[in-house]
Amino acid sequence: MLLSDRIQRMEESKTIMMARLTRQLRSQGKDVITLSLGDIDFNTPDYIKEAAKQAIDQNYSHYPPVEGYPDLIDAIINKFYSQTDYLYRPDQILVSNGAKHTLANIILATVNPGDEVILPTPYWVTYNELVNLAGGKQVYIRASIESNWKITAEQLEEAITPKTKLIILNNPNNPTGAVYSYQELAEIARVVARHPDVLLISDEVYDSLTYEQAFISMGVFNSIRRQLVLVNAVSKTYAMTGWRVGFMAGPKWLIAACKKLQGQMTSGVNAIAQKAAAAALRGGSQIIAERNEIMRRRRDVMFEYFEQIPKLKYVKTRGSFYAFPLFDEYLGTQYQDQIIESTTDLSMYLLQEANVAVVAGEAFGYPGAMRFSFAVDQEIIRKAMERIIDALKKLRPDLF
Ligand code: PLP
Repeated sequence: MLLSDRIQRMEESKTIMMARLTRQLRSQGKDVITLSLGDIDFNTPDYIKEAAKQAIDQNYSHYPPVEGYPDLIDAIINKFYSQTDYLYRPDQILVSNGAKHTLANIILATVNPGDEVILPTPYWVTYNELVNLAGGKQVYIRASIESNWKITAEQLEEAITPKTKLIILNNPNNPTGAVYSYQELAEIARVVARHPDVLLISDEVYDSLTYEQAFISMGVFNSIRRQLVLVNAVSKTYAMTGWRVGFMAGPKWLIAACKKLQGQMTSGVNAIAQKAAAAALRGGSQIIAERNEIMRRRRDVMFEYFEQIPKLKYVKTRGSFYAFPLFDEYLGTQYQDQIIESTTDLSMYLLQEANVAVVAGEAFGYPGAMRFSFAVDQEIIRKAMERIIDALKKLRPDLF
C-alpha cells in the first residue's frame, strides 16, 4: 500500500457518486435536473471580467506575492471594515485559492493529531475531511430543526475541553440556510472569550445572500479578536466560483504560519484572478442587490412547493441558497423494488424516479434531511419540485 495514512483517513465526497449517476442518466438521454449545486447560475459581472482582461494586457503574468497583491488586500480590509468596524492591518490578511484553501491552510497550520475541533452539525463536509486530514478529532454539536438549525452558547460551552483547538462556525449556513442574530453571536462570543486558547473560524462566504435578516459578522466582537479568524471569498457573492479567490483575516501569527504553508504548497493566487477579485470587491453593490432579489424569489418558489408536501418539516431559509427539509415520513417506504430506508436511498430514488438530483443529509452528518439548492432558474425549480412531489406521492399515497 503506497498511499499515506493521511489520505486514507479522508473520505471521498458523497456528492461525487451523485454527479456520476447524473452524468450516466443524462448520457442515456434522461432530462436530469440538478438541485445539488453549490454554484449559482449567474455569470461573473462584466466589470469584473473587464478588470481581468486589463490585467492580462498589463502583463500580470509573473509570480504574485504569496499573501496577495496590496490592492486586493486593501479591498479586503475595506470589506471587513464595513462589516465589523475594525480596521485589520495588511499583515492580518491572506489571500488563497478559494475559501476552501483558506480553511485548509488554517486547519493544517493549527490542528495537531488528537486536537479537538468543534463542528456544529449539520456541517459542510469539507470541514470534516480537512480535520481528518490533519489527524484532529471532531466533536460534533447537533443543531436541530427545533432550534432553527442553530447551536446555542450552552451547547458550545459543554463541548469545549482542554483539548479543543478550533471551533468552526458557518454563518449564513450551508446546508441549513440558518442565519445567526446579533444576540446569538454575542452569546457564542462570550463563551469563546472564556476560553482564550481556543480559535474560532467564522466562515462567512454566504454573507451577501441573506433574506429578511441582516447579516452580522462575528468580527463585530472585539472581545474575541485575538481568537477569531474570518473566512470569506469572492466566490458566491460575485458569482466567481471558478476564479478561486478566498481570503482570511486573523491574528498575525496565524497569517504568517498560513503564508509559510501556502508559500511552499501553492504560492500566491493566480495573478489575473486576484486583479479581478480586487475589482469585484471595490464595486458591485447594485448587481448584488438585484441578484439577491432574484434569489429571494427563487427561494419563495421552492418553499411554496415544500408547503404542498405533507409531513415535510423545514425552516425557511434566511441565508445562503440551500434548504434542508426533513423527510422522516418518507423513510421506511417502498416503491416497486426500491426500498427507502435512509435519505441516501431517497435521494437515489428521486434521481431515478423524478430525475432530480439533491444531496442526502448523510453528506452533512445529518441523515433524515436532504439539501436542496435554489441556485437555478425559477422555472427549473418548479419543474423539479413537481416531479419530486409526483415521486413522493408514489411512496406515501396515503398522505396526499
Ligand atoms: N465555505 C462554505 C460553507 C461553502 O459552502 C463553500 C462552497 O461551497 C466554501 C466555503 C468554499 O468556497 P470557495 O469556492 O471560495 O472555495
